[in-house]
Amino acid sequence: HAKKRGRNTYSFFTDSMNQEAARRLQLEEQMHGALDRGEFEVFYQPKVDVASECITGVEALLRWQNPVLGSVSPMVFIPVAEQTGLILALGHFVLEQSLQQLQQWQSMGLNDFTMAVNLSPVQFRSATLAAEVEQALAIAGLSGNSLELEITEGVLMSGQALVDDTLATLTAMGITIAMDDFGTGYSSLSYLRRYPFHVLKIDRSFVNDIAEDPADRELVCAAIAMAQGLGLKVVAEGVETREQLRILAGYGCDVVQGYLFSKPVTAGELTAMLLEQRKH
Ligand code: C2E
Ligand code: MG
Ligand code: MG
Ligand code: MG
Repeated sequence: HAKKRGRNTYSFFTDSMNQEAARRLQLEEQMHGALDRGEFEVFYQPKVDVASECITGVEALLRWQNPVLGSVSPMVFIPVAEQTGLILALGHFVLEQSLQQLQQWQSMGLNDFTMAVNLSPVQFRSATLAAEVEQALAIAGLSGNSLELEITEGVLMSGQALVDDTLATLTAMGITIAMDDFGTGYSSLSYLRRYPFHVLKIDRSFVNDIAEDPADRELVCAAIAMAQGLGLKVVAEGVETREQLRILAGYGCDVVQGYLFSKPVTAGELTAMLLEQRKH
């Protein structure tokens, strides 16, 4: 009997592993050449100043629409792209697209906000990252002051000397460095102490239940106070309700990003929002 169950268990795992492997293979297959086929597009989500409720920045977020798989979440395809190395081409694409788009907005007189781009730890393993960023800025005719780079703890855990050098070079170019997903890592506090961040982004998971959960309120309140003590600007992610905004404002949060104001939208849709804002 035990033997039989053992065999069943074995085949159960084999099946699910096969399914998982097949899914993964299909994902990789479809991802191959997808950039050249134009399946990737950069969307933009507004970051809104708490005091004025004006858009003071946007975050570039990658979208993938595939004929076979449909729309695939970055939570699914970014990790795969990091493993296959495609993230280098994707990262370059996002940087180039978003900066050219920002240049276009600036030329329309929509020039009082910054562009934030997410960087993968894999991109930081390349010694030419800072040069790549510098070149993308130059091609778009922009200075570093209008660019913000969002990095996670994963970046800081990999290859210290190279990461130190790259961050120092980027900072010297006037680029703003934001710590993304704050609170979800293992040693956010020690990294805050070690690296020259300008912005702290509180992860959406802490903001979610802020209206219902007193413990989450305490954590967010403390994180904001700490960031302010260190001279960092605070952005809260995933703000979906007026009540969440009210609580965050009370704690002194500077900027919010979330569905309350807007989901990530196409460049065209954001243009309309910016033009609308300019009227007021
Ligand atoms: P992230 O950098 O923390 O981006 C914020 C995520 O929260 C986005 O998910 C955004 O759509 C979502 N979000 C914002 N406001 C709300 C809200 O009010 N409610 C809810 N439920 N969600 C909200 P998205 O676009 O699916 O991206 C997920 C993650 O994928 C990003 O997290 C980032 O880590 C990664 N990612 C996306 N685009 C890129 C990229 O171009 N490069 C790299 N390296 N990573 C990227
Ligand atoms: Mg981000
Ligand atoms: Mg984030
Ligand atoms: Mg996040």
